[in-house]
Amino acid sequence: MAAVDDHPYAAYSAVLSDAEHLLDEIDDALSRLEHGTYGTCEHCRAPIGADRLAELPLARTCGSHPQLADSARRAPAGDGPVAVDGPPAR
Ligand SMILES: [Zn+2]
Repeated sequence: MAAVDDHPYAAYSAVLSDAEHLLDEIDDALSRLEHGTYGTCEHCRAPIGADRLAELPLARTCGSHPQLADSARRAPAGDGPVAVDGPPAR
């Protein structure tokens, strides 16, 4: 098991890791809903715009803080499955 890179498991593992991360983000968003802080910027406490929440339902910030990487990903609306990068040709 030297070269695992082109083994399909590597791709599955990446997708699984993405999914686990997304589940964590969803859990966190649900917790924010429970605590009444969903839709409030975690940085400046400003309300997160409806447009932003529609695009990024798991957004933690209002989007005015480019220095903060919003770990929430864009909603996969119409973008298809998560892209898995791998060398298609040798
Ligand atoms: Zn903010």
